[in-house]
Amino acid sequence: MKAQAGPAEIARVCERIEALGFKPHIIPGEQRTAIGITGNSGPIDSAEFDHLPGVAEAIRVSKPYKLVSRETKPENTVVMVNGVAVGGEEIVLCGGPCSVESREQILESAHAVKHAGGELLRGGAYKPRTSPYTFQGLAEEGLRYLAEARAETGLGIVTEAIDTETFDMVESYADCVQIGARNMQNFSLLRRAGRSRKPVLLKRGIASTLEEFLMAAEYILSEGNYNVILCERGVRTFADHTRNTLDLSVVPAVQALSHLPIIVDPSHGTGKRDKVIPMALASIAAGASGVMVEVHPAPERALSDGFQSLDPAEFREMAAECRAISELLAARRKIPAGVR
Ligand code: PEP
Ligand code: MN
Repeated sequence: MKAQAGPAEIARVCERIEALGFKPHIIPGEQRTAIGITGNSGPIDSAEFDHLPGVAEAIRVSKPYKLVSRETKPENTVVMVNGVAVGGEEIVLCGGPCSVESREQILESAHAVKHAGGELLRGGAYKPRTSPYTFQGLAEEGLRYLAEARAETGLGIVTEAIDTETFDMVESYADCVQIGARNMQNFSLLRRAGRSRKPVLLKRGIASTLEEFLMAAEYILSEGNYNVILCERGVRTFADHTRNTLDLSVVPAVQALSHLPIIVDPSHGTGKRDKVIPMALASIAAGASGVMVEVHPAPERALSDGFQSLDPAEFREMAAECRAISELLAARRKIPAGVR
């Protein structure tokens, strides 16, 4: 739609789409609203819409991930999580333990993240663990502690939903619902997340291609939730010096194809504490909208992923260096190219 198009013009286009038997998706933007169309089995004649008031252009989307595609919405999407803009000009730092282990542990982590200048608190109350015998999370008790940490620090909460049965519960506490790597192609869970009013953080599957990743996001958008943040967290390769191979080149690749913001998780992406800070910095340099990092008050005592968790001092150092890189690049890019 044109920048000046109002609600009546948007409604008129949607009515036209519905009259043709298709589903309209109003995707708001800073400058312009995009209206996606799904439900059609073949091409639609753009002449159906071109002449309607407020329409800037009718574009045929060539990609299978129609609503996620930049063809549908050229402008970047900014996802608001508890008042924090993800995908805007400023990078966003999300930190916290792999799992919520106790009230004290999550409150201490939250204060550490806040003190370092982080904006979002992560922590799983439902954990997808490789072994059924390891710590599975505190469930609702953990969610209550997260809510308490939010009340004390003002940090927005990112926490994972591992199945449709517990989605309602997670959604009622979370500011942003995480869908983990193992669930990236759990299509019923993706559809449930698509019916949520909360933003969703979708992690890339352990062995998924860029197209599979974007198609997973498309499931969420197709149900009407356009607030999706993508997260690169490493993929499985032959490399054995890390737990996963962090694929930073996916950041510009996603940005070329999609309007959705992408952040990076260098904790799962490397699986080794000493590699987390370097790769967090590289993520920001590569243009990610932020990082999500595991932080624990005492990593050696963590019930999950302690070996890849930073302690509060390390997280503070990382946060300051990430901001320094981001500010340097932003300042330099404001100078006209010929003068640099
Ligand atoms: C996590 O964030 O703790 C987690 C389980 O991540 P992933 O789904 O990327 O493995
Ligand atoms: Mn973890």
